[in-house]
Amino acid sequence: MESIQPTPTFCEPLDDDGLAEPTFLDRLFDQGLLVRTGVDGLYGRSGAFESVVEALDRLIGRLGAADNAEVLRFPPGMSRPAFERSGYLKGFPNLAGTVHSFCGHEGEHAKLLACVEAGEDWTAGQKATDIVLTPAACYPLYPVAAARGPLPAEGRLFDLQSYCFRREPSLEPTRMQLFRMREYVRMGSPDQVLAFRESWLERGTQMIRDLELPLAIDAANDPFFGRAGRMLANNQRAQGLKFELNVPVNSVEKPTACLSFNYHQDHFGTTWDLVQADGDVAHTACVGFGLERITLALLRHHGLDLAAWPEGVRRVLWG
Ligand code: AMP
Ligand code: ZN
Repeated sequence: MESIQPTPTFCEPLDDDGLAEPTFLDRLFDQGLLVRTGVDGLYGRSGAFESVVEALDRLIGRLGAADNAEVLRFPPGMSRPAFERSGYLKGFPNLAGTVHSFCGHEGEHAKLLACVEAGEDWTAGQKATDIVLTPAACYPLYPVAAARGPLPAEGRLFDLQSYCFRREPSLEPTRMQLFRMREYVRMGSPDQVLAFRESWLERGTQMIRDLELPLAIDAANDPFFGRAGRMLANNQRAQGLKFELNVPVNSVEKPTACLSFNYHQDHFGTTWDLVQADGDVAHTACVGFGLERITLALLRHHGLDLAAWPEGVRRVLWG
């Protein structure tokens, strides 16, 4: 970790009278940067907050521009059959969000309204639709890429951005249930995708340095579910398949992953029958940027008043 200089308010110290200072989340609400909805991890965002998200999105686009990635944007929902085939439920059943809908007739409608009226559970009659919420921006991409046939010899590179859903309610403002992820996704040979990941480890680090934030790159693992999951997580770490760029936001001890660099080996290639030009199964890698998390890191370190941010940071974001 380089040059962490916690601001005086960093750890929510106690007041003279022993009362806790407002948390970072409280201060974001008080300033109107985030807007309460009554659900932890589900927030509205102010124009000022969005101006940072948009500037980051453009900055990430500029950093990758020379690579000519193909831009694709999917809505924040994906096909349920594709989601089932992706294997997400094996690793993260607890994080998944499904879209259910009313499919009944008038009798069931009357029952539903009566339940709402009585304050009882009205959702029992809701049926799963063919849409689930997108868990990571790259999940809808693999079947689409595979349907195009074998990769060209140079592989493929995609530029994605999506709202993502993860069922992880929390009072940490950096852990949202609905948040935006920008991604670049590389498909090709192991050499091609590893070179891509290496280049983004460098570019991502430089980007966060340019934003004058303290950072550390660490080996990481996804939060695989259950006992079998612990083995998967250990494997992922031991094989160096996931790295995260961490910035202290909620605390210095538990810094927040703002970027992640993932090598999936042939997992998605095998799952989706995605092959290289020579017929070998394709390897894939992605770099993910948490747009709200980087925004929150900037607010934490440079203050809640954007106009007072260091000149150099403002220049990187807004020219
Ligand atoms: P992951 O697929 O878990 O590596 O996530 C990719 C990026 O999305 C992370 O590096 C974070 O910046 C961001 N992210 C992941 N989970 C959340 C969350 N619950 N709230 C906000 N951002 C998140
Ligand atoms: Zn991804």
